[in-house]
Amino acid sequence: MKLLDNNMFRLIQAATISRRVRSADTERFDALRVLETWVPYRDAGFELFVIDDSDWHGEPDEDAYINFDRSTKLFFRQSVYDAALNGDPSCQFTCAHELAHLELHAKIARSKLSREPHKKIAHRTNPKQEMEANVYAGALQIPFPALRKDSTTWELRLQYRVSQEVAQKALDQYNYLTRKGFSFEFRKV
Ligand SMILES: [Zn+2]
Repeated sequence: MKLLDNNMFRLIQAATISRRVRSADTERFDALRVLETWVPYRDAGFELFVIDDSDWHGEPDEDAYINFDRSTKLFFRQSVYDAALNGDPSCQFTCAHELAHLELHAKIARSKLSREPHKKIAHRTNPKQEMEANVYAGALQIPFPALRKDSTTWELRLQYRVSQEVAQKALDQYNYLTRKGFSFEFRKV
């Protein structure tokens, strides 16, 4: 499965707008801080749980996961949460990925639940949502309008405290979409 170019672009655009509410394009984006402090999420029944590693009930290889139900519950492994607090790049990406689910998918899941309250629906995310969350999370961590053709992963890692993988992926997506004629010169807000 692959996202359409247009969908990829729209996800990056939406993430850029969301990012700019909280951080300047020159600044690092702290997704964990946003998860913990962004009040509208609380109002919408969002809860965050940190689970001791020895009590982890998710998949063994999972760092965190989100569950859509009457409320939206986000579960973190304690060690992942702690590392994200300390700015660990890959754990911060996990936070950005979960934030992406919250911004992209929680509303849809909740409205489905309210329309069909008696029906069992999948409370966990699906593979397409996983891909969308990864694109969105990358664009939260790295502001695409700040990217240039000659940007390097080294610069991006230093400025935004992202992993090599996230930096490389953002550059690949930037170059790919730019070649296809998309522009990231979004209006400054
Ligand atoms: Zn996910």
